[in-house]
Amino acid sequence: MAWDFSTEPEFEEKLAWMRGFVREEIFPLETLDLTHEQFLKAIAPMQAEVRAQGLWAAHLPPELGGGGFGQVKLGLMHEILGQCSMAPVVFGNNAPDSGNAELLAVGMESSGRHDHREKFLQPLLDGKIRSAFSMTEPGAGADPTLLTTTALRDGDEWVINGHKWFTSNGSVADILLVMAVTNSDVHPYQGSSMIVVPADAPGVNIVRDIPTMEHPTEHFGRIGGHSEVIYTDVRVPYDNLIGLEGEGFVLAQKRLGPGRIHHCMRWLGQSKRAFDMLCERAVSRYTHGSVLAEKQTIQNWVADSMAEMSAARLMTLQAAWKMDQVGAPAARVEIAMIKYYGATVLYNVIDRAIQIHGSLGFSTDLPLEHMYRAARAARIYDGPDEVHKVTVARKTLKDYKPVEVPTEHVPTRREAAKRKFAEILDMTSE
Ligand SMILES: Cc1cc2nc3c(=O)[nH]c(=O)nc-3n(C[C@H](O)[C@H](O)[C@H](O)COP(=O)(O)OP(=O)(O)OC[C@H]3O[C@@H](n4cnc5c(N)ncnc54)[C@H](O)[C@@H]3O)c2cc1C
Repeated sequence: MAWDFSTEPEFEEKLAWMRGFVREEIFPLETLDLTHEQFLKAIAPMQAEVRAQGLWAAHLPPELGGGGFGQVKLGLMHEILGQCSMAPVVFGNNAPDSGNAELLAVGMESSGRHDHREKFLQPLLDGKIRSAFSMTEPGAGADPTLLTTTALRDGDEWVINGHKWFTSNGSVADILLVMAVTNSDVHPYQGSSMIVVPADAPGVNIVRDIPTMEHPTEHFGRIGGHSEVIYTDVRVPYDNLIGLEGEGFVLAQKRLGPGRIHHCMRWLGQSKRAFDMLCERAVSRYTHGSVLAEKQTIQNWVADSMAEMSAARLMTLQAAWKMDQVGAPAARVEIAMIKYYGATVLYNVIDRAIQIHGSLGFSTDLPLEHMYRAARAARIYDGPDEVHKVTVARKTLKDYKPVEVPTEHVPTRREAAKRKFAEILDMTSE
């Protein structure tokens, strides 16, 4: 089957517009230390322009106000948006809102509770409210079967108790999509559910935004924070259930597939930005008798980075294409591969770009040090590298059977070949 990542000329024009818009309008915001309110004010006219271009919330199907683009086109868009962490917000497809909107849409399909559209989905799409995805707990991350947060049914309400952390955007969210155990008598894969919890519901305590390697100083209430949240006897209507009871893991998988394609394409946008800085410095900096571009180590960095970025890009587009053709479950191995491969490429390219800039690269006079700190998390969130490698290895190894003698064992093959060609061999010995 041929792979085809091409898009029509009209879409290429949109991509060209996006490249200019992100660079000219959004990049300058990075240099300012805006409050949440100032930031929202600054991006409002930009968001209007994005809507006018028909590019707002493009990840959703047309009936929900999106572009119905499919993963290849979305991937190409995210490659441009990924250059700047603020750009996805301007385009209405920032994580976690974009994934959460998809989750609500998929949940409505299976539950038939279409009032979720008016209550949660439409305001989220219109950018009137923000959301967060509250799954990881201090004691359960890479293995979500260990989650201990519970949601018990009491009449027509859920009563939720638990302790979450790293709920991204939790402190600016209006709604929290909480993963909880709703039936402890069955395996967590069948006994976990997702429930919409308004952030102002009694019993929801957004304790703090956890200072991280990316944002070492705590700033409570800004986009991009990662919140610790305690839920104590939080009561929400039963109908806030997303999808069906016990469908939590199925829904999480549906949400994470496209999300990982978008992550990887955004990382490629970041990698390319770091790579451009690397190359610019290579041809500009003179030391030890030549410009850096003439030193073989630097040439190796340029060549390795180009090859790694090209490989990651093709792998990601192929995963996107496969998802468009046969759906996310069939593309599981491809999606897992790009998650750890793309994260490593991002990290390597930024690291080389810092190194070539020497002390300037280490300083905050360039965006590289911040990009580097943010990139480190890519190898952890959405499942750490090791877990994705387990998926790839397990699925791959399923195609192999244990043997007593290796299939390629030459003496054994020689004996078989002798028997197969006995007639010819007999003729030659005559
Ligand atoms: C920046 C950032 C944003 C995040 N945003 C969100 C969010 O919005 N919502 C949310 O719910 N969560 C979020 N998370 C949490 C994230 O999903 C978890 O950090 C991730 O799932 C790993 O869980 P953990 O941190 O508890 O690590 P652990 O589960 O403790 O794993 C620690 C390490 O153990 C190793 N390991 C684990 N399993 C295996 C295995 N099977 N084989 C080999 N090694 C293994 C890996 O090296 C792994 O890094 C975010 C995390 C970060 C860093």
